[in-house]
This record gives sequence, C-alpha cells and structure tokens, in this order.
Amino acid sequence: MQTNTIGIVSAMAEELAALQAQLEHSHTVTLAGRQFHWGQLGGQSVCLVLCGIGKVAAASTATLLLGHFGVAGIVFTGVAGGLAEQVNIGDVVVANALLQHDMNAEPLFPRWEIPLTGIGRFVADAHWHQALWAATTHVLAEQPVRTLAGRSLSARAYAGLVISGDQFVASAHASSALRCDLPDALAVEMEGAALAQVCHDWGKPCAVLRTISDRADDDAAVDFPLFLREVAAVYARDIVLRFLWREAPKLVGNQG
Ligand code: SAH
Repeated sequence: MQTNTIGIVSAMAEELAALQAQLEHSHTVTLAGRQFHWGQLGGQSVCLVLCGIGKVAAASTATLLLGHFGVAGIVFTGVAGGLAEQVNIGDVVVANALLQHDMNAEPLFPRWEIPLTGIGRFVADAHWHQALWAATTHVLAEQPVRTLAGRSLSARAYAGLVISGDQFVASAHASSALRCDLPDALAVEMEGAALAQVCHDWGKPCAVLRTISDRADDDAAVDFPLFLREVAAVYARDIVLRFLWREAPKLVGNQG
C-alpha cells in the first residue's frame, strides 16, 4: 500500500493529546497493542499513534506505519532532556541527525555504530528537516514567550544532534558523561534514533521535534512531569499544525 499519509508519533499520551483533539474525520485501527488514529489534520491525511517509551517501542511502531500502513514519512513530536549548555527547558530542538548513545559493540565496531551498517549518526531527511525547522522558527517568532509554573520562558529553536537510549537521564553525572562523549548533542531522549534507523531501512523520511522538558540532571524527575502536565502537548501542537498546513504539501502533496 502507498499513501501520502504522514505518520505522527509520540511516546506518551500527554505529548499527542493536543493534536489528537483536533483530528477530523477520524477512525481508529488497533494493531500490535497500538491505536492508529487516522484522519485529517491541518489539511493533510495523517495517522497519529502513541509508540510507548523506548527504542524498541519506537522501532516497532515505525515498522507498522511504514511496512503495514505505507505512510509517506514520519514526524515524531515529544519532549527531551536538554544536554548542551545553551538548551534550556522550554526550548525546541529539531534533529538534523540522530544517534543511539547506548549502542556500543566495541571493539568489534566503532562506538555508537549500528553493527554491520557502517552508520552511527542517522542524518535527517533534508527536506523534511528543513520543513519542520521552518515551521518551528515561524511559530517561535510569533510566540516567543511561554509560561511554566508562573515563570516566563523565552523559547529558542535549535537544530542539531539528538541522542536516544533506553535510559531516562536524570543525574548531573549521567548528563555530563554524555556531554563529554558527544559534545555536539543538543538533547537526549528515548525514541528518535530508533525511529530514524527504521526510516532509513525503509528509505522513508522522518523528522524529529523535541521540546525540552528537563535538563537531564538531578532535577529532571521533578521538572519532567510538571512540564508534561502544564505544556508538553500544547507546546508542539502549533508547530506540527504549521508543518502540516504550510510545509507538508510541498513534501507529499495536499490531501485536504
Ligand atoms: N513514564 C515515566 C517516564 C517517562 S520517560 C514518567 O512519566 O515519569 C521520558 C520520556 O520523555 C521518554 O519518552 C523520552 O523520550 C523523553 N525524555 C524527556 N526527558 C528525558 C531525559 N532526561 N532522558 C531521557 N528521555 C527523556
């Protein structure tokens, strides 16, 4: 099956809720324990699905979207821990490359390389990345300040390396070790690089958008649920909608 539908994936319900609330003409298909919500959003045909947390959950979901349902490409929207010094809670990171920080088959293969592929960093599809970046910078220019727990946050947008692993990074020690090993990593999360690997296997584009919920440090477990409760889904909704309205037609044609 080939469609022009765009898969939109999040790990947790809070991350997808605001988009799901706007889905029109929807119907739901349940497969492999996941609910695939088909419908129209921002003038495009989309399929919204929660993958669950972690790399296997993301890979399994991406495989179903691409192999079973034949979507044209996948956008991941969710939260992440900020790693680079300048990346703060409330900022938005669009991945231009993704790496699995817990992959290590040394000394047989170089650190972080996916064995037998020769690839450590999955480079995001240039057109999809550029489109998501354009939507992000547009929305942040329109709404530069957000409020979280009574604090005003001026959100900035960053494009760069996002790293993934099956670990919630929640200590200064763990985050500084990652910063030391991978100094150009902007943010850490648990799904993006797995999704990127599956999309690479299928020769399909993906793009990953992450709002920063915590700093992956000793306060992460406190900051993370607060951010999820107060802003997570609403925050990225405008960017994804802008992407679907204004950018996606250039990528897959207009399905509205
Ligand atoms: N269910 C638990 C744990 C969530 S895991 C809870 O609700 O408390 C964190 C999720 O957010 C993952 O999907 C991951 O991609 C992202 N994330 C946010 N901050 C992260 C961090 N500091 N380290 C790793 N993943 C993080």
